[in-house]
Amino acid sequence: MAGKRDYYEVLGVSKSATEAEIKSAYRKLAMKYHPDHNQGDASAAEKFKEISEAYEVLSNKEKRERYDRFGHDGVNFGPGGFDFGRDFSHGQDVDLQDILGSFFGGAFGGGGFDFSGFFGGGRQRRADPDAPVRGADVTFRLRIDFEEAVFGSKRDIDLKVPDSCAECAGTGAAKGTKPVRCSSCGGSGYVVRGNGFFQVRQPCPACHGEGRVVGTPCKACRGSGRSVTSRHISLRIPPGVDTGTNMRVRGQGESGVRGGERGDLFVELEVAPSHIFERSGSDLGVEVPVSPAIAALGGAIDVPTPDGMAQLRIPAGTADGQVFRLRGKGIKALNGAGQGDLSVRIAVETPVKLSSAQKETLEKFIDLSTDANFPRAGRFGQEATLFFSRRDALNKI
Ligand SMILES: [Zn+2]
Ligand SMILES: [Zn+2]
Repeated sequence: MAGKRDYYEVLGVSKSATEAEIKSAYRKLAMKYHPDHNQGDASAAEKFKEISEAYEVLSNKEKRERYDRFGHDGVNFGPGGFDFGRDFSHGQDVDLQDILGSFFGGAFGGGGFDFSGFFGGGRQRRADPDAPVRGADVTFRLRIDFEEAVFGSKRDIDLKVPDSCAECAGTGAAKGTKPVRCSSCGGSGYVVRGNGFFQVRQPCPACHGEGRVVGTPCKACRGSGRSVTSRHISLRIPPGVDTGTNMRVRGQGESGVRGGERGDLFVELEVAPSHIFERSGSDLGVEVPVSPAIAALGGAIDVPTPDGMAQLRIPAGTADGQVFRLRGKGIKALNGAGQGDLSVRIAVETPVKLSSAQKETLEKFIDLSTDANFPRAGRFGQEATLFFSRRDALNKI
């Protein structure tokens, strides 16, 4: 084991790194060098092996202590050197797979990278090339209007999905022929590469993991067994949906292989913004322009709500930007959990295009006004005076 790099160095962490730091460093590196993302790259595979080994030791309290005291010698077991297989087949692999699984998502399912085969001593799972495979899920992004999200609606969507080829029933083989067993992998669908304790099991490149190859390809689908079809789907959008709401339509995804069921369709909604409402969950906000006269005198204003126009009484002396809350006047929640609130923000609007009569009235109003009518303006004037007197005091120094 000469020339082995220091495990801390491999993960790029300090000797005093916490468990969480080690885990996080490992995740980042494992993502980067994962064989699934670096197919055919031997140096990446080597790197992945190295970081996995480092993590295996540093994530284990006892092994880490031994390693800290004795270095690589402290964690080498027996003549076989580093006993990778043994440890990974005793529960540790579950944890590792867990960590990676959450990052690589579906990469571990179906034809993806087979983790158990990666470490020589792990579980052996032999894929059955005749087993039905469920079709993949399909995501469709749908942009809807704000009103549709609030009140619900119906939408027809046209979806192009890879479906089973009708001509060859999905086998990919021309009429009257059948796919034959792949000679490269003997029909298993995978090949094993590497040596000794460290082996990589990969989908067979000749048959792409299918275990079968097509002799005479179907003309309609050129041997792929799939053809893109258009599907028309009527979608009922319930009231209360929001951007990010994912609607699942069962059995409208890609068709399965060898009689496997269809995947699902996920319609991911994006709600266009409203011109007057702001939305946060089931709460709404609306800014209502109000004349200075009503703001000063108080009175009733009309406020649009999802339930129709509502009247809001504002008190005399209502300030610009003041907010009033109307309970239960927001959006009905998607899960039937009540209705949100509506926050009404007052926007005092400066009048424009005044008639001479209006001007006269306002001028008269100004003549009658005192500082007491405009306390903010009064305070502002005092602060400005103070600013200049301080400036002048500084000039005399
Ligand atoms: Zn093959
Ligand atoms: Zn076909």
